[in-house]
Amino acid sequence: MDTLGILINLVRERDRVEYWQRHKPCDFPPHVVLILFVPPTNPGERGRYFTETPRVEIYRQGARPNDGNHIAVEDAALSPCPVQELVSLSHELGHHDSAVARGSLIFDTLAEQYEEEVRAWARGRDILSGTPFSEWPVFDERERESLEGYKGGWNLAADVAHEIEERVRKVSR
Ligand SMILES: [Zn+2]
Repeated sequence: MDTLGILINLVRERDRVEYWQRHKPCDFPPHVVLILFVPPTNPGERGRYFTETPRVEIYRQGARPNDGNHIAVEDAALSPCPVQELVSLSHELGHHDSAVARGSLIFDTLAEQYEEEVRAWARGRDILSGTPFSEWPVFDERERESLEGYKGGWNLAADVAHEIEERVRKVSR
């Protein structure tokens, strides 16, 4: 299976609209989340997770804004860059799974917020490990770049960040 196929399958497994169409449930199981491919609100941003609804937005240049009629599986099939969008999706689903497991994503300290970022990458890696995904250098680079960005932006001491990374990766391994 190629990367586009993996992206489509992951959306099919996790998207709320897709789940609704197949099962017409009274209630949604916790792994299900609304997935949207929409234009970025901040330049350079690749994706974001919102605990309310809950939903994952994957940002795609030129996508049509959310009009309530997006079919994520169809949008996934039109992906202009499946590898990057799949990496983004796995990370944002990592936040969703973390929110489900913990009950909330509200943290008191930047160290805890950083830990959540590390956890979402670890969970994203887990999610993709269950698929034929093979573009690991791209995943590793995106993870490194993202965590570096947070460390810098939040002024987190290198040893504190390192300790968090070690702890989270030990648990998720
Ligand atoms: Zn994140």
